[in-house]
Amino acid sequence: MQGSRVAVIGGSIAGCAATLAAVRAGAESVTVYERAGGELRDRGVGISLHDDRYRELHEAGYVTPEMPYKQLDRRVWTVRDGDAELGRGLATQPFPFRAYNWGSLWQELRRRVPEGVDYRSRAAVASVSQDPDGVTVRLAGGGEERHDAVVGADGYRSVVREAMFPHLTPLYAGYVGWRGAGSDVGGSWPDDGEARTVVFPGGHCVIYRILTADGGSRVNWVLYTAPPEELAEELNLDEPTSLAPGRLSSQLTTHLRQLVAKHFPPYWAESILGTPPDSTILQPIYDLEVPGYAQGRLCLAGDAATVARPHIGGGSVKALQDAAALESAWREATGWDAAMAAYDHGRTEIGTAMVAQARRLGRAQVEETPEWAALDEEQFQSWWQKQNRTPDGRSGFGGHALRRG
Ligand SMILES: Cc1cc2nc3c(=O)[nH]c(=O)nc-3n(C[C@H](O)[C@H](O)[C@H](O)COP(=O)(O)OP(=O)(O)OC[C@H]3O[C@@H](n4cnc5c(N)ncnc54)[C@H](O)[C@@H]3O)c2cc1C
Repeated sequence: MQGSRVAVIGGSIAGCAATLAAVRAGAESVTVYERAGGELRDRGVGISLHDDRYRELHEAGYVTPEMPYKQLDRRVWTVRDGDAELGRGLATQPFPFRAYNWGSLWQELRRRVPEGVDYRSRAAVASVSQDPDGVTVRLAGGGEERHDAVVGADGYRSVVREAMFPHLTPLYAGYVGWRGAGSDVGGSWPDDGEARTVVFPGGHCVIYRILTADGGSRVNWVLYTAPPEELAEELNLDEPTSLAPGRLSSQLTTHLRQLVAKHFPPYWAESILGTPPDSTILQPIYDLEVPGYAQGRLCLAGDAATVARPHIGGGSVKALQDAAALESAWREATGWDAAMAAYDHGRTEIGTAMVAQARRLGRAQVEETPEWAALDEEQFQSWWQKQNRTPDGRSGFGGHALRRG
């Protein structure tokens, strides 16, 4: 790889990490093409990383303790119980996750992109095509540039994946995630270490605190459920899409508010209803797996390669692990064929396994929810064990281990 010219399409989590990987593996020049402008740092929602996965990524040099976070240790699955302020706890589980603010996690990754890398904002790529000697990148604003290899870190609507596997698109899972970060109402919620999952017929909502840029805290929440049919049609969910803050229709906002008012214990309803509608995001949930992570001089990382439903809590972990795997594959290989084959071999199977497990979790927690209020703690734990069991006996909740043990 020494002396090569590499392009990374997408400069978000997977893109910044893949850039670091390419530089460490010896690329002479790395160009990052990122469609967005400065607004990436403004994404104020939460993202959580499992403690074990964090440790591996720290050892591999892709995350650092300087990235500000709140430590979570348990989560209480909660159901509405009349007027009881916090509702009724169905079960408590260990929840060893670091809760990050997306914006500050990204800024720290961006800061670690080595000087000398040509990171271009507002640089959208229209398409890529490869030949035996390299890859041509066509810019949406006009012009073409040549590189020896390209990493597609351009998310779920990847143009690099389109070049590798035309017509392969994310499949709508049948429900959406409403996502926001409201002001912290303080009061009865005991401490920062506790996450809550409020459950209701046909869905659930994960809630935990995150830090703000000024050291304060906000209540991060993601609520998963199917939208009513007439609203789903309007959204055209078969086309991969997401609605940025401020783009939710008043009908969607009203639906969300009515659902929360009806099913949530008063404390959690107040937290969520207090989030300004114009800062709420809607993300349809998709499944996507690929036949391979690499092909010729093209390869994929993060959501460009596989989109696992968020219930697995490991999409960002997977994006960072892809970069660590890319670094080792490229460092050890003596040519592009071997480098790409080693990367493909290591990641395709894990990506596919994560998508499958996330689908199982989504079925149980959204599509076929149990009669939550009737479950006692023992029944709840056995329900959880059943859905979280993987065919090879390893739990992938929080993401798979970086290296197979
Ligand atoms: C509701 C929800 C909750 C989640 N919670 C968690 C969690 O708690 N923990 C966790 O680990 N994961 C979580 N995830 C998953 C995680 O957010 C993603 O897996 C991860 O952010 C993927 O990062 P990425 O860099 O691959 O993709 P993205 O962040 O989507 O980045 C792709 C980048 O490419 C750029 N781009 C796209 N097309 C082009 C183009 N043509 N030219 C140039 N640039 C382009 C985009 O502007 C963008 O910056 C969650 C996901 C959802 C939907």
